[in-house]
Amino acid sequence: MANQLEIRNLNVTIGDKPILKDFSLSIPKGEVHALMGPNGTGKSTLAKVIAGHEDYTVQSGEVLVDGVNIIGMEPDEIARSGVFLAFQYPLEIPGVSIANFVRAALQARMEEGETFNAPAYYRSLYEKMDLLQIDRKFTARSVNEGFSGGEKKRCEILQMAMLDPKYCIMDETDSGLDIDALKIVANGVNLMRSPDRAFLVITHYQRLLDYIIPDKVHVMWDGRIVQSGNKDLALELESKGYNWVKEELATA
Ligand code: ADP
Ligand code: MG
Repeated sequence: MANQLEIRNLNVTIGDKPILKDFSLSIPKGEVHALMGPNGTGKSTLAKVIAGHEDYTVQSGEVLVDGVNIIGMEPDEIARSGVFLAFQYPLEIPGVSIANFVRAALQARMEEGETFNAPAYYRSLYEKMDLLQIDRKFTARSVNEGFSGGEKKRCEILQMAMLDPKYCIMDETDSGLDIDALKIVANGVNLMRSPDRAFLVITHYQRLLDYIIPDKVHVMWDGRIVQSGNKDLALELESKGYNWVKEELATA
């Protein structure tokens, strides 16, 4: 179906170890879905497979972006189709300013024959920075070099805003993210929420969801979704812990 990101019966291995096991999930445009689960259940694997990471082998299944299967596409082709994956561990790129880095990302995504309009780019960059309340001095700094956790997140959110993706996948380990950084991510997501865009917010802890109110919450366990609900499910998980899900599964 068009207008959604649809993951259909995805089976993924690393080496010969199965990681995603018949994983299915649909996220319609306009919605924010949270994916939660204990460490090692395959949340980051899912994010990377959608982005076209080469370490993973897709044994079967599909990832449909507005009805088009992106499995087998190169990462840049997937990005062009409107998917953005925020980085869990951002790289430092000394000597490359944020303005030039974002510009390179946009240029890489352009079709052949398209030309880059620098004044329009800077206009749009400053517009997004104002929206996200980022100081203009920030654009001249080297990507992630000596950045605080919060500044890295600002850089990431700015990239996301400039690329204007249809489907945003945010893989937040939460570890090392202080409240300020969480708020920057949440604020960026909330400002970018739109009927033309969907978000998959991956998180281990509930606290990010204090700031981003998701339309749906999914709990992942051992490579698949075992429970889905509304935002209250995240609160229930927070108070009862992931073992509660395991016990529910055992009695199911
Ligand atoms: P989560 O993000 O839910 O913590 P991951 O997707 O990172 O889980 O990992 C799922 C499983 O896959 C874990 O058992 C992990 O050790 C394994 N795994 C992830 N990436 C790799 C890799 N590049 N090579 C080998 N094993 C990996
Ligand atoms: Mg992870």
